[in-house]
Amino acid sequence: MVLTVGISRVHFPVTTLGPGRRLGIWFQGCSLRCEGCISVDTWATAKTFIPIDKLMMGLSTYLPLVDGITISGGEPFDQFDALLAIVTQLREKTKVDILVYTGYSIEDINDQLQQIKPYIDVLISDPFQRQSSQTLRLRGSDNQRLHCFTSQAKEKFAYYQQTVTTEDKVLDVMFDAEGVIWFAGIPRRDDFIKLETLLKRQGHQLKVTADKVKN
Ligand code: SF4
Repeated sequence: MVLTVGISRVHFPVTTLGPGRRLGIWFQGCSLRCEGCISVDTWATAKTFIPIDKLMMGLSTYLPLVDGITISGGEPFDQFDALLAIVTQLREKTKVDILVYTGYSIEDINDQLQQIKPYIDVLISDPFQRQSSQTLRLRGSDNQRLHCFTSQAKEKFAYYQQTVTTEDKVLDVMFDAEGVIWFAGIPRRDDFIKLETLLKRQGHQLKVTADKVKN
């Protein structure tokens, strides 16, 4: 049987989810449904699934250009067989660091983690918690943990173990083929809701894919 994967989007370059100009791969589908998630559009199961080999052919064109790879979602570990196949093939093709985000705790995914660890450098684990403080780099809430598995990761991600400064308040802004604007990075709490309100006051419409939780 051909192994397939549901992907939300792939983009290069992404500059706000790890060091350097990175290849970003977002999985489609998340069963965790964290309150206040900014990516509600990635919750539903993918409408179409693509063969891993076809995805890898597309990704291979970027690999000579990338400084690192970030895999996020959605929830990559909800499609674990596909995730494992992708990072295994990426590891064969490139030495750049591979960062994977998950909303699961490492204790919950221990078996899968042991399988995937030889192929990735960094894991950011644990669910987004809306009520947690938000002071750590690369993380949407301070309960999330950054795990470095390789010497390359320890060196390149030491900076990201520290607390955020104003310099970290940046997002990648991109337009897709349909003219939809989308963002990559770690926004501050309610940034998108504020942006939506601001644009509405000026007569523009913005559809925000954040889980709007009433205070
Ligand atoms: S924050 Fe991540 S893990 Fe949580 S619901 Fe959103 S996509 Fe899923």
